[in-house]
Amino acid sequence: MRYEGTIYRPPGERHSYLLQATVGCSHNACTFCGMYKDKVFHVRPTADILEDIRMAKAYYGDLTRVFLCDGDAIGMPTEDLLRILRALYEAFPSLQKVGIYAGPCSTLRKTPEELRALRKAGLTRAYLGVETGSDTLLRQIGKGVDGAQMLRAGVMLREAGLDLWAMVLLGLAGSGAGLDHAGATTELINRMKPRHLSLLTLVLEPGTRLYADWREGRFVPCGPEEILEEVRYLVANLTVDPLHFTCDHASNYLPLKGTLSEERERFLAAIDAALEGKRKIRPEFSRRV
Ligand code: SF4
Repeated sequence: MRYEGTIYRPPGERHSYLLQATVGCSHNACTFCGMYKDKVFHVRPTADILEDIRMAKAYYGDLTRVFLCDGDAIGMPTEDLLRILRALYEAFPSLQKVGIYAGPCSTLRKTPEELRALRKAGLTRAYLGVETGSDTLLRQIGKGVDGAQMLRAGVMLREAGLDLWAMVLLGLAGSGAGLDHAGATTELINRMKPRHLSLLTLVLEPGTRLYADWREGRFVPCGPEEILEEVRYLVANLTVDPLHFTCDHASNYLPLKGTLSEERERFLAAIDAALEGKRKIRPEFSRRV
């Protein structure tokens, strides 16, 4: 239970024991992301990770959920990941779920056989930062893949049997371009078919390139109405079913959460009420990453 630097985990992993397998993000180049700017990516020595597992065993006794940090732990050599998974399941008899952040570039470097072996060894859920389905925007934000590659990464994870959780970033295209972003993203997600989708909203973070672009007038952020229009487009046009849909992160203006096919009409009514000023939205000052 030793950690290097600030640790991030998806909201869905709040009950998981966090095991740091890698430090930082192997990509670390997205223009909007400030999470791992203070870290140089490296894989922790397997012996240290195994020692952490022994420490967690001594402290907790047993565990049901584990999340492998940091930003792109799927980038570890597959053999090392398999060893860690074996050690986790040996140490914790009640373990049911092991999650991981899966960067698209690192995912594409694995073979389908490697991903299936990881699933078989007990890796259960992968979080994929899709951000957008737009090729132009993916290039602008420096994600390192185009839409077709992002789709392939998501499909590979899903077809390996992993519970795929995709994340999309509203407001990323800036003012005036939100509906292009929402349209391309809807199309990509409909083809990728994740089991879960989280919509987060852009918060400009000091130290990132996008923040500098904003300060120097090269990027104009969307206002709340434009963000709500993006959400509305996605809610109205996503066809994946069943889809566990969440838009209740601290960065979002309007909290929405549920199975999309069952809640679509309620979500649309809530968004329309917010657009008409009949329903309160989260004030700008309280939005955070
Ligand atoms: S891949 Fe994810 S963690 Fe890495 S820089 Fe991009 S957004 Fe940040």
